[in-house]
Formats: sequence, structure tokens, C-alpha cells
Amino acid sequence: MSTCVSCGAVNVRPLKKPGTQYKQFLCLACGLVFSEPMKGADPALYRDAESNVDYWTWNFEISWHHRQFLEEKNLVGKTLLDIGCGVGEFLVEVKKAGCDVYGVDFVAEKIVVAKKRFGLENVFCASVFDAADTFKGMGFDFVTFFEVLEHLEDPVGFIRQVRTLLNPGGCIALSVPNRGRTMARFDTEDGPPHHLTRWNINSVTRFLGLNGFKVIRYAEKRPDIEGFLKSRSMHKGVIPALASALKPVVESLPLCGRGLYVLAGIEK
Ligand SMILES: [Zn+2]
Repeated sequence: MSTCVSCGAVNVRPLKKPGTQYKQFLCLACGLVFSEPMKGADPALYRDAESNVDYWTWNFEISWHHRQFLEEKNLVGKTLLDIGCGVGEFLVEVKKAGCDVYGVDFVAEKIVVAKKRFGLENVFCASVFDAADTFKGMGFDFVTFFEVLEHLEDPVGFIRQVRTLLNPGGCIALSVPNRGRTMARFDTEDGPPHHLTRWNINSVTRFLGLNGFKVIRYAEKRPDIEGFLKSRSMHKGVIPALASALKPVVESLPLCGRGLYVLAGIEK
């Protein structure tokens, strides 16, 4: 019998997902969609997906979820660890905001770029599960992991390790693709082996609550009209005009985009 990988409920419903060896289930108790088996993609697949990106020259920009975090007050003098930090474009901004920053990423080349191109010192090549070992004995005021959770084979084991890395009163900030978004069915990448779990605010809140965290703030991204038109392989020349024509209509509707940002603290 299949049980929810987050809350352990047996009340799960199989989802139809033709053309893959994975099964997917919706947990009727917490709203999580999870895969069976919980077995992720070969890490080489991620490098292949970015094979057109030269980390040394690429114009890295921070993402929507990064900007959500940077809105938090009182970052000065705090310590922050970013798990899955990539080349460190987010850490550079957090450092400017006054934080003492640390990062890990499992792609060795990205860590070299983070050090040599972006001047970050405390960044290490480690898997998300090695982070607890890498920083044993240290405590952080913030641990962040953006677009990480949905890839993990053992989300519960991971969040328990993250908890051990936090100072008393510390917070986590995370982002996941929002499965409650309006155009989710067009997103073919949002499933196994890339994404083993699919979350909405209810399933994230339940997951965090079961592991000792209380949600402080969350934000759901609005639809990215331009991104959607590009994904439909529309002719590039017409996209900006069409996107700006559609914008007022889309913004007037209760639609959700791909991103879900959550800030949570340790429950007392
Ligand atoms: Zn569940």
C-alpha cells in the first residue's frame, strides 16, 4: 500500500501519468503529489539541461523567490546558509544586505565560479544531505533552499537535517513550483524524475508543521505571461505585444503562476 511521503497518510489516490515508469499519487490528507518510486534523476541530467550555459560569462539574475526573501527586514549581521546555491547570485545580494553568507551546491564547477567570479568565500561542493556534516557545530539564522525540495528523494530526512543547522529563533525560506498554478498541466518538466513531489501551500504548511516549523509568510507568484507564450513556441516577434495586451486581463483574474515562496520559523 502506498503512503504519503510527507504525512504518512494511506488515504492516497493514484493519478494517471501515461508514458513513464513512475506512478504518481495525490495525498487526500495533505494535498501533496508524490512519486513512486521516490528515485531522482541522474545528476548528469541537470548539467545536460544547462549545457548551453557558460557559468563564467552567463548573465545570472536573481529570481522571483530570491526577491521575496530580500524583502525580509533585519538581515544585517545575520548568518545565512543557502542549500543549492548554484553560482551564488543570490548570496551576492544577501551579502550586500548585510548577512554573513554560506552556500553549498553539488555541482563542483558552480562552486568554483561562485568563488572566482563572484568572490564568495564560504561556499562548498556538497550534496544537500552533506550540508549538515559540512557545517556541523555551526548555527545559522537563516537556511534557504529554493527549488530544491521537489527534487529530493527524502524530503522528511532533509528538513530534519535543516532543523539541526538553525540557531534558536532561526528561520527557513524555500520555494517550490506551485502545483496550484493555473497552467500546471502545460508544464511537462514538473514530474518525475525531475520533480518527485509537487506542492501547494497546504501541503508545504502540513509538511513544515509535522517537522517543527510554523509558516510566517508565504507568497504565490502571479502568472508569467511572457514565459508561457515562449513555452508555446510562439513566434518571438509577437510575444512582447501579445503579453502586454493580455496583462490587464490576466492580472484581473485569480490566477497563480509557477512560484510558491514560504518563510517559516521553528515552532516553540
Ligand atoms: Zn500527505
